[in-house]
Amino acid sequence: MPRREVDVPALVRDARAGRPRAVARLITLVENAHPALREVMAALAPHTGRAHVIGLTGSPGVGKSTTTNMLVSALRARGRRVGVLAVDPSSPFSGGALLGDRIRMVDHALDPDVYIRSMASRGHLGGLSWATPQALRVLDGAGCDVVVVETVGVGQSEVEIAGMADTTVVLLAPGMGDGVQAAKAGILEIADLFVVNKADRDGADATVREIRHMISLGDRTEPGLWRPPVIKTVADRGDGVEEVMKGLDKHLRWMRTTGELDRRRLRRAVAEVEAIALAALRTRMGELRTGQGVESAAARVVAGELDPYTAADEVVAALA
Ligand code: GDP
Repeated sequence: MPRREVDVPALVRDARAGRPRAVARLITLVENAHPALREVMAALAPHTGRAHVIGLTGSPGVGKSTTTNMLVSALRARGRRVGVLAVDPSSPFSGGALLGDRIRMVDHALDPDVYIRSMASRGHLGGLSWATPQALRVLDGAGCDVVVVETVGVGQSEVEIAGMADTTVVLLAPGMGDGVQAAKAGILEIADLFVVNKADRDGADATVREIRHMISLGDRTEPGLWRPPVIKTVADRGDGVEEVMKGLDKHLRWMRTTGELDRRRLRRAVAEVEAIALAALRTRMGELRTGQGVESAAARVVAGELDPYTAADEVVAALA
């Protein structure tokens, strides 16, 4: 695809003024790993760090889209600007390919203060860990007060999302065998809030008890530590939304008073910087290979003039 010239200052200005199309273009630049990204990130940097990033994860069908929709309504009622990033760790499609988008769009499509975007992470350089933080940065820099990152809980994705969010919400539903799964996947470690959705169905109280029991077996009982609340919701009716909002606010306050927010954000920035640095190294390594730098060192290894460790040291020195 030919790359158009990008007027970064204008785009960033428009995004900050809340123009959805500018935000969309910026996220597309992220998806395409466009060379202008460096300039975009530099322009956004002074405006980031304001948004409360909420990660929402759970198995397919548990009610993530419906819950996001419910939360967006509650946040809009409080006058907050909201970004929603739906990350599908398995899909190669992007730009509204998720069914969830269409469901959400019905309620919030015409609201200029709600920005909804789906992103596929497969096929990206570095996958979820590379593109998602930068898309979050765009939404944060564009002035969203809250950004919800929604991902299907499969394999590593929920752990990755927890690394990118300030607050992680794990969504469960009765009768899905989620309790057992949760324990297996180490979800207890990452959840700041548990939400048992579909509380209109049989077995919700049992699921709540099961999670509470698991929490009590963990070591999160010391004073001053965060003990994740377990909240029941019926997302399609909006039941329980106030409790979830309270839980989110409380967690944010707890993180602020304990310094946990800064610690999490530092960890997040470390991962982000490392991912970019590794990508840069890979590019540089590729250049060295084409430019024969690696090959000449390797040839000396073959000739017995160099051991492979010394050869590798030379390559690493040339990377700098
Ligand atoms: P996702 O795949 O996790 O995003 O799940 P969705 O939000 O798409 O919801 C899956 C299905 O469950 C949809 O048909 C929803 O209407 C339905 N659903 C969502 N929340 C509830 C709830 O609280 N109770 C009931 N009975 N159904 C719900």
